[in-house]
Order: sequence, then C-alpha cells, then structure tokens
Amino acid sequence: MTRLIFLGPPGAGKGTQAQLLSQLCEIPHISTGDILRTAVADQTELGKKAQSYMDAGELVPDALMLDLVRDRLKSIADRSGWILDGFPRTVVQAEFLDELLHDIHQPLDSVVNLDVPDMVLIERLLARGRSDDNETTIRNRLKVYRDQTSPLVDYYQSRDQLVAVDGSLPIAEVTEILKSVCN
Ligand code: AMP
Repeated sequence: MTRLIFLGPPGAGKGTQAQLLSQLCEIPHISTGDILRTAVADQTELGKKAQSYMDAGELVPDALMLDLVRDRLKSIADRSGWILDGFPRTVVQAEFLDELLHDIHQPLDSVVNLDVPDMVLIERLLARGRSDDNETTIRNRLKVYRDQTSPLVDYYQSRDQLVAVDGSLPIAEVTEILKSVCN
C-alpha cells in the first residue's frame, strides 16, 4: 500500500504518470483537476463555482478544494493507498492535508516532483489542446505554479519526503524510475 503526492508544474506529466503508476501499483488515482472538470461538465454547484477560475488558469479557492479532498480520501478504504495528483497546490492545502492524514491515520509515503523546463512545458501544453491550454492561460498557470505551488517543493524537501524526477525524459523512462516508489 502506497500513499503518494505528485507535484510539478502544468504539463510536467503528473496526470499521465499518476495514471500509469496507479495501474502498476493498483492504487486509486485522485486527480483534483479531473474531478473539477467533471463537475464543470455536469454543471454541479462545485462546477459552477470552479469554472471561471479554471478558465482563467487561476486556482480554485482553497475553501472549495478542502471539502472535496477530505470527502474523497475518507471514502477510500484504509488499506488501499492512493496517488494525489494536483493536490496540494498551496501551503494552506498542504497544511490541511497534513492534519487530515494525521486524523485519519494515513501517513504519506512520498512526494514525487516532476521537474521540466518552462519551454518544454509550454510546447507540451500547446500540443495538448485542453480548453484551458491557450497561450494566455498557460502563462498564467505557470505563474500561479511558481508563486503558489512551487514553495511546496521546499516544504516536502525539508522533511525528506521529496523524490525529484526529470520529467522531460520520455514517458516510459519516467515510469520506470517511478516504479520503485510503490510497493
Ligand atoms: P490540473 O488538471 O491539475 O492541471 O488542474 C486544472 C485546473 O483545475 C487548475 O488550473 C485549477 O484551476 C484547478 N485545480 C486543480 N487542482 C486544484 C487545487 N488543488 N487547488 C486549486 N485549484 C485546482
């Protein structure tokens, strides 16, 4: 059983690698971006509130994210483990997660940080063509990542929980490196 967080800027391959690893390690993949996109498509209350932030490449307010993640993690059986992809993205979210994991007795195993240079990220995101992958939004998402999410690299590094991986390598090579974090 393994409990992992995937960190990294948009376009680093978090979603792809988290999906592959979740199959290899047989643990659930929780992507807050996917959950929010489904909520937007279904026009749920959460989706209606989240949409404008996502379209602008801004983060959805912490208050909305915390309930969502608490519910998801509590609904997963104690012994199955999980991969969190796209959460936490702010220090407030990371501190909330620490407290939650402590309360539900589910200690974190590792935080995978996928490192990729900005130029490669922009190329990848433009090629992906998701609705929030236009050039203006991409630049904003990279800025939001630098300002609000990248401090989490130090946050987890200082506790020796960080595993840094070169995310510009081919997909299969990254997966091969990551395989060792679960088992
Ligand atoms: P992603 O698929 O992880 O790139 O997420 C897509 C968008 O969903 C982001 O640009 C944010 O607007 C929103 N989002 C996803 N996860 C979070 C989070 N943990 N906190 C705030 N907003 C989020």
